Amino acid sequence: MVFSIVLQRCSRLFNVALIPLLLLISTLIAYHFEAPLIQQWLTQANWLPYACLIIAGVIAWQFGRSRLVWLSLFLLLIVQPIDPEWLEVGMAHTARFCFILLMLSWLILSTDKGFSPTNLLIALVTIALVAAACLWLLPVLASHSQSNNYLLTPATSWLFQLWPGLRQWFTSTELLITLLSLVLVLVRSFMQANNSQIALLVAWLSLVILHCINQLAPNQLVVITLAIIVCIAVIRDSFAMAFKDELTGIPSRRALMQYVQTLGRKYTLVMADIDHFKKFNDTYGHDVGDEVLKLVASKLNKVTGGGKAFRYGGEEFIMLFAGKSSKDVIPHVEAIRELIADYDIALRAKPRPPKPEQKTPSKPAKDKIVKVTTSFGVAEKTSEHSDFATIMKQADIALYAAKKAGRNCVKMAKQ
Ligand code: GH3
Ligand code: MG
Ligand code: MG
Repeated sequence: MVFSIVLQRCSRLFNVALIPLLLLISTLIAYHFEAPLIQQWLTQANWLPYACLIIAGVIAWQFGRSRLVWLSLFLLLIVQPIDPEWLEVGMAHTARFCFILLMLSWLILSTDKGFSPTNLLIALVTIALVAAACLWLLPVLASHSQSNNYLLTPATSWLFQLWPGLRQWFTSTELLITLLSLVLVLVRSFMQANNSQIALLVAWLSLVILHCINQLAPNQLVVITLAIIVCIAVIRDSFAMAFKDELTGIPSRRALMQYVQTLGRKYTLVMADIDHFKKFNDTYGHDVGDEVLKLVASKLNKVTGGGKAFRYGGEEFIMLFAGKSSKDVIPHVEAIRELIADYDIALRAKPRPPKPEQKTPSKPAKDKIVKVTTSFGVAEKTSEHSDFATIMKQADIALYAAKKAGRNCVKMAKQ
């Protein structure tokens, strides 16, 4: 059970992260093979990273992605070489690296809160505190750990012993902050894998890689790539919001209406409706009802035979089979009907409050197993019924016939 959840999360993370990671890797490969050319090009167009970040920031702001706006601002910091005067302060590189890393971790752990005056104030205070800690606290900690060989070293010295090459990339302080931030970032990204989260995760990864490379030119190139990733993330998140059903995660009614336009001359429409769902809600509660809706949607989404499932509204779903006749799709619909009807839904039993006179604790209540069934109405596009509204009507009549025939069955519209 836990293993399957982990596997599911990993595959989701992989799906969302694939494009940004490919972009990042190809950028680094391009730099590796064409470094002089790219450096020359970037010197001529040194305004480009700034322009890309400004565009990305504005797009993110327009779509209410406040974390990506902050990301665009923080990335400005790594395009700039460190001021030589500032370098003399010592640990300037470490301070900048740790500051951006901690800020990225903060963004990854938080949610898009917008820019209301209160939220802006909280964000500015957080940034100021982290900046102060990186500028003043880190040097103190680092010098302490060097003098008494104790404060920061136990966690990191073991790693340095295990992998001595790490010393050329990280100081003890940097390694400690990187590890701390890595744990937070991984846990959080595992819990939430939307496009904004992945853009932040890839930015985090890029920062660590750039820190190890320690040259400015790839910084600029990677920043341009990250700005593109931010734009892609905003567009993909907005697309998902518009075309995916929020509760079940499968395509929504809007996506259905768009998909219909792309269907050719032949297709079959299947209308699905959960049986006695009102009673189910009344008996077990709306929350459990929502979980069942998600479950049914996930089963419908697995339909074979080239079908595509959509949530039409409430507890009604539509499946569309492009290029298929009613006869072609019946076995696939029957398979899904059986899959849903045979599925055991375990309802978590609420712990019973102990009776006052009872000394020994009562046995934990057993999970209750329930089942739901679904009825289906199938209609095919014909020369007689060729527009979408009429096919929907035909499927609705067939669905009504399925309900009348005792539910948990599939009925075809009369042609
Ligand atoms: P039938 O077998 O004839 O389809 O009976 P039914 O009770 O399923 O049909 P009806 O259309 O009367 O009830 C649909 C119910 O679906 C009403 C509503 O409580 C429930 N429902 C609709 N949308 C949602 C939702 O998003 N979440 C939950 N939990 N319930 C929903
Ligand atoms: Mg209904
Ligand atoms: Mg129903």
